[in-house]
Amino acid sequence: MKRILARRALLGNGWAEDVLLSIRDGEIVEVTAGVPSPPAGALIAGIVIPGLTNAHSHAFQRALAGRTEHRSGAGRDSFWTWRERMYELTGRLDAGNLAAVARQAYTEMLASGYTSVVEFHYLFRGRTGNDADAMFGALRTAARDSGIRLIYVPVLYERAGFDRPAPEARQRRFAMEVESFLAHHERAAGAASGRVTVGIGAHSLRAVSEASLHQVAARAAASGAPLHLHIAEQRRELVDCLRACGVRPVRWLLDRFDVDEAWCLVHATHVNDGETHDLAASGAVVCLCPSTEGNLGDGLFPLERFLRAGGRMAIGSDSQATINPFEELRWLEYGQRLASESRNVAAVEDPHVGRELFRRALAGGAQAAGQARFGLAPGAPADLVVLDAEDPMLAGHGPATLLDALLFSGHRVPIERVMVHGEWKVMDGEHVDRVPTARDFAAALTELGAAP
Ligand SMILES: [Zn+2]
Repeated sequence: MKRILARRALLGNGWAEDVLLSIRDGEIVEVTAGVPSPPAGALIAGIVIPGLTNAHSHAFQRALAGRTEHRSGAGRDSFWTWRERMYELTGRLDAGNLAAVARQAYTEMLASGYTSVVEFHYLFRGRTGNDADAMFGALRTAARDSGIRLIYVPVLYERAGFDRPAPEARQRRFAMEVESFLAHHERAAGAASGRVTVGIGAHSLRAVSEASLHQVAARAAASGAPLHLHIAEQRRELVDCLRACGVRPVRWLLDRFDVDEAWCLVHATHVNDGETHDLAASGAVVCLCPSTEGNLGDGLFPLERFLRAGGRMAIGSDSQATINPFEELRWLEYGQRLASESRNVAAVEDPHVGRELFRRALAGGAQAAGQARFGLAPGAPADLVVLDAEDPMLAGHGPATLLDALLFSGHRVPIERVMVHGEWKVMDGEHVDRVPTARDFAAALTELGAAP
């Protein structure tokens, strides 16, 4: 049994003082507030908050971060020119270098306060002939070695576009027949245990047929897995969907599928008022990835309208342009402020934006990960973050503004320790295996740069 006495802890109903957390077998078994003196052997912590779920990650794209920020030609750069660079990278990845790159990404996620990651994965074939199971094995190894909780989400990718039934040559490493895909999903689910669970998904409406998406949805329902899907990220997707189907992507999906709490729709950037309302009413969670959406020039999700309609949201690091949940939440709010020329836009239930966004990202992240229990509560996984209460960023902040300070002040989140499944993975502000992880990452980058 591990015990932590938190001088201040964020519980489900708000901040509490002198909270004793008892942890056994990777789970929080007891939470008691108002315990003034620690029992023998307890760790005394300043401020404890729950770890967040990174609800949308492409770990391999960590190898691309900072390498696409220059003009690629005479024309205007866009998501689609960035995608060319991303495809070049996928042509060089195999299970070995994927494990090293993913481990670096996961290590950085832990150090920044994410304790779970939903890995949205479609790179099913490696350069040296690795199959889908081997590529999953690489991600599992990266998760094990870093210590992060992994929700592996294999996603079906069948075709190049709505009216292009075959994949392009560069998409062949992603493409799978639906039967083979479902067999891979079944094997992955069978191999999962401990900190690894398995969801399921489809890449996007353009990349799968309606019939196949029904098969994926049926598998999700039968297995109880969360179902993830990129949708309406780029305006061109909207135009292509309208041309091919005569209807907008989110409307098309809502009309044909029983979209409910099991669904996680990633981005949903380009939605009209009716779609926003109906998406909120469905109970599905929308995963927003503000740093990536900004980096790729996607557009802006109508956050306030969605939240006021009862919508549920999660956050993700997606392309790994930024790995920091507090920065994601900050930019989520800043994008809305810039567009609306107003302030505190996301404060629709709680006057404090920081508290409201953190609470929503925590609950929405757990929903996207398929976790029924979350937060600092009995029965929840022991996934938590210890903050340095003495840090100047937090000086003088109490229950009302502490999360506002974490989101909107300072440069570096004062994280002291991070625990996943009852084990400390970050100590003294650094991941415990930071040095060997960085060394292997640098070697993988050299290999990726050198490969033909
Ligand atoms: Zn994505």
